[in-house]
Amino acid sequence: MKRWAALFLVLLPLSYVLWEQKNSNPVTKLRLKPEQIRSTQRPPESTPPNKITRNSPTSEATPVPAPTPPATQISPPVLAPVVQAAPAPSEGSASIAPLSAKGEKLVRFKMEDGVAVVQGDIVIGVPENPAVDSGVAISPTLKLWPSTEIPYFIPPQLAGREKIEEALEMFADTPIRFVPFAQQKDVLVFEESQGSCKSYVGFVGGAQPIWIAPNCGPAEIAHEILHALGFVHEQNRSDRDQFVEIFWDQIEKEHRLNFEILPDELMRVSLLSDFDFESMMMYPTSIFTLGGQPSMKSKIPSHEISPRKTLSPKDLDRLSKAYGFQN
Ligand SMILES: [Zn+2]
Repeated sequence: MKRWAALFLVLLPLSYVLWEQKNSNPVTKLRLKPEQIRSTQRPPESTPPNKITRNSPTSEATPVPAPTPPATQISPPVLAPVVQAAPAPSEGSASIAPLSAKGEKLVRFKMEDGVAVVQGDIVIGVPENPAVDSGVAISPTLKLWPSTEIPYFIPPQLAGREKIEEALEMFADTPIRFVPFAQQKDVLVFEESQGSCKSYVGFVGGAQPIWIAPNCGPAEIAHEILHALGFVHEQNRSDRDQFVEIFWDQIEKEHRLNFEILPDELMRVSLLSDFDFESMMMYPTSIFTLGGQPSMKSKIPSHEISPRKTLSPKDLDRLSKAYGFQN
């Protein structure tokens, strides 16, 4: 009987080991989702020209895994095909958005970082002909983000991470919750700009970039985030002529398009409050001026143009109206 007991004690652990091996098929256990496979691939040998490179550490220390980059490469969609045939109205001569021959609302753009930019920092898409320097395009339609929880990604090589995080913290009292990227489908991606800070206006989806230039501080970055949430500039609102006077002759010619009125298609968020002289989206009167004279002036005696470095009460109010219902 003792012999049977000893044999039982030997076979029991042996059978467990055999069962464990059978169920630890390495193929099954290591199967990864496609995005995980992508994230484990080595980066390409050649670094994109518009990326900041960091010196590689020379020590043989165990590499620390970098944050997983967005699954999709940043490739802004074509939102606003270029209307090559439409004659561009003379800049600054009209205070209303120009129309195409078919009656479509047009916006005037210049190329920067390979994308079409309206009014200095609003990106509308990629032209069908990437060789153009400037032109007019059909106005994009503004979309709001489908969720108040918005993922963001700051590439580790991007300079100024602290400034971006400070800007994101300015939205703590709004319905928006910025969360670190964790392979969500839609994500705000901060990337280096070769020119100015700029952003799409409203929700585009996918890996949606916000371009950050070295001279942009937290307030300028928060301004770009507001563009991404659907705001346009206050001085470009369709009702702005009731509130501010534009001194076209005092504005540098190449920057006059910054003071044109945008089409109603882009006003969905901005018009949720009265004209806001204190908004982060209001330009200071000293910007783009010739010889130090102001570029514009308030028409309302009790309200001076005085943009804030943080969200104004009306900026907060508009975010609550645009996104608060989703809470
Ligand atoms: Zn702007």
